[in-house]
Amino acid sequence: MGIQMGRFKVMQKTSQASDVVTLKLEPIDPFNLDFKPGQFVNLYIQREGETLLARPYSIASSPTNQKYLELTIKIIEGGRFTPRVASLKEGDIVKVGGPFGKFFFLDEEKMKDVVLIGGGCGITPFISIIRYVADRNLDTNITYFYSARTMGTILYKDELESIAEKHPNIKLVFTCTRENSSEWKGEKGRISADMIRKYTDVNNPDKYYMLCGPPEMIKALVEALKGIGIAEDRILHESWSA
Ligand SMILES: Cc1cc2nc3c(=O)[nH]c(=O)nc-3n(C[C@H](O)[C@H](O)[C@H](O)COP(=O)(O)OP(=O)(O)OC[C@H]3O[C@@H](n4cnc5c(N)ncnc54)[C@H](O)[C@@H]3O)c2cc1C
Repeated sequence: MGIQMGRFKVMQKTSQASDVVTLKLEPIDPFNLDFKPGQFVNLYIQREGETLLARPYSIASSPTNQKYLELTIKIIEGGRFTPRVASLKEGDIVKVGGPFGKFFFLDEEKMKDVVLIGGGCGITPFISIIRYVADRNLDTNITYFYSARTMGTILYKDELESIAEKHPNIKLVFTCTRENSSEWKGEKGRISADMIRKYTDVNNPDKYYMLCGPPEMIKALVEALKGIGIAEDRILHESWSA
């Protein structure tokens, strides 16, 4: 499948947190939605009297959903692009190019056991993979480590919990870095090698580790994983440098 470019209509715009926008984009022009879960597209937005701008965004929907592409985007105050995302309205037209990227769920034969690691909006490639594995009823073992500032900012929480309930091969480990409420019973602090070791068998050589997030986080976690003996070719990562 080649790279495509097409117009999409904003069919729905919702907000999972005060600074996070989720867009459902419906193709207007012919666009093959058979991407690989984990890949990204370039989103182009042109506002009247302004130049055309684009940024890459991982696709949050699964290719099992052929109706629309879902993107979840953190709005950065003073950012050059994301204020344009914030000002989109349902019915607006944007352009999408893609799919791109080599960071994706390889295939169900190769990846029987995978650890997904990310935080904040870095959930997008992983919710795509989890939706894909669940929709296709694959027996892939997934442990997903997700870090958020507070329990109220865990994106896709209800959907993830409902998938994990129906699919015992999908396990979730949520950790909050700034949660003080006694209601929070999950992990606290950043994702670390110790935390990964607590919930997964790191001695299983067939396991893959997929990491997504800002470059500093990726760097620290790749080192930590190598430090506990994980082979480099088992660690796949994508960093979102601004
Ligand atoms: C492959 C790939 C996939 C991506 N997928 C997603 C996705 O699914 N969702 C998503 O929200 N973003 C994603 N990004 C990041 C996205 O492409 C933009 O970099 C981001 O939206 C910043 O846009 P901006 O132009 O408004 O900010 P800029 O004008 O580029 O940045 C403004 C200021 O904010 C800082 N900044 C940039 N990004 C962040 C951040 N995330 N948190 C805090 N400060 C920041 C910058 O250092 C700068 O100081 C992805 C990036 C890559 C490379």
